[in-house]
Amino acid sequence: MKAFNLSSLNFLSGLIRHSLALTVTAAVFCTTSGFAEVPATPAPHIARLGKAPDWSLLEPFQETISREEFVYLLRHCYAHAPGDYDDTILIQPDRALILKQSNHPDAGWFELRFKNSNHLSATPPKFWRTPVEMPDLPANSSQPLKGIRIAVDPGHIGGKWVTWDDRHFKVGRDTLSVNEGEMTLKVAKILERDLTLLGAEVILTRPTANPVTTERIETLQDEAVNYLKQRKIVPSSGLIASTAKKMFAISSEIRSRGDLLNDSIQPDLALCLHFNASPATSRRPSFRSPNHLHLLINGCYSKGEIAEDDTRFEMVTRIVQRVYYEELNLSDEISRTMQKETRLPAFHYDGTNGMAVNDNDLVWARNLLANRVFFCPVVFFEPYCMNNREIYGRVQEGEYAGLREIDGIYRKNIYQEYADGITAGLVNYYRKVR
Ligand SMILES: [Zn+2]
Repeated sequence: MKAFNLSSLNFLSGLIRHSLALTVTAAVFCTTSGFAEVPATPAPHIARLGKAPDWSLLEPFQETISREEFVYLLRHCYAHAPGDYDDTILIQPDRALILKQSNHPDAGWFELRFKNSNHLSATPPKFWRTPVEMPDLPANSSQPLKGIRIAVDPGHIGGKWVTWDDRHFKVGRDTLSVNEGEMTLKVAKILERDLTLLGAEVILTRPTANPVTTERIETLQDEAVNYLKQRKIVPSSGLIASTAKKMFAISSEIRSRGDLLNDSIQPDLALCLHFNASPATSRRPSFRSPNHLHLLINGCYSKGEIAEDDTRFEMVTRIVQRVYYEELNLSDEISRTMQKETRLPAFHYDGTNGMAVNDNDLVWARNLLANRVFFCPVVFFEPYCMNNREIYGRVQEGEYAGLREIDGIYRKNIYQEYADGITAGLVNYYRKVR
């Protein structure tokens, strides 16, 4: 290793001091126990149900990205603030050093060599195609999405599973309950039909109301205990239950869809469908006045998230695959047609977990499990607040044909309107760039 700057030298000497301290502690401990003098390797610090990363998977990306571009993407979109990666990613003149295990510096650093402008570089490996890598389109084509593989991901779960992830409510008797996991599936089915007619190959990550994961709350009890212990949280029975529930409905479910998407669907882009809701103050459902729209791209990783070994690996993988540009261009275009269809104002983040990356106030960067572990451009949709009175009323209207007058405006049913906003955006985008 060469050419460390002063601050990284200070940092490294800090690490060396730290590991010496560990060794000394271990040695003192060993004199009483009589066991080997090597300090125990801590279990890696990873996200819920994540796996310790195999850093060698980044080898094919050696010399494929310049220092300027790597630093630009890291600072502009991925790290929430520059100080958030100081401890785990060191930028050298010719390489990035990425700490392999954040709680065990002895595991070493992965060295990612930057592309040298004098060198021809290899194309970074990825399964998805940018529009220029797709076959050209005849100018008058009636199928502007011809040959594009699109994964549609209906957020959450439906059916008897709907109550497991707290994205549902019901007001009074003889009403339809509002179930996000069933509403997203309705939109997904419309998209499947409409995008297919336009030439796309559409694959749903969840084609039914049922979960994709084979895990259940009962099978995740030990994992929940281990996760809490690793975070130094006392595993009370209440916490084990709530952690296992999140592990099933969120972590395990989304990771299973990620495996399906990355290993077999391998699409050119993924559309993650959700309905938003305003935070509720009580457990009793009540209506809230906000109603808005926003789209998310992956980014805005906090210091705590970057400190997770698997999350850091996934963030770096997105950077070297240059997912950002395609994700942003798609979101930018679709946000305009979505707003035209839905007539919703933009939602604004306060800067804590979402950040702006351009001047489009409908598009934000945020680190979510699905837009991190689906290794292709992901457009993540958050239109409509389900606990807004007007939206609730539109859900009660169901999937009617044609238009109906709602508050003096003739409107499509909410599911078709949602899908049409996406379809129009995709058509506009691919007509421009193919
Ligand atoms: Zn959702």
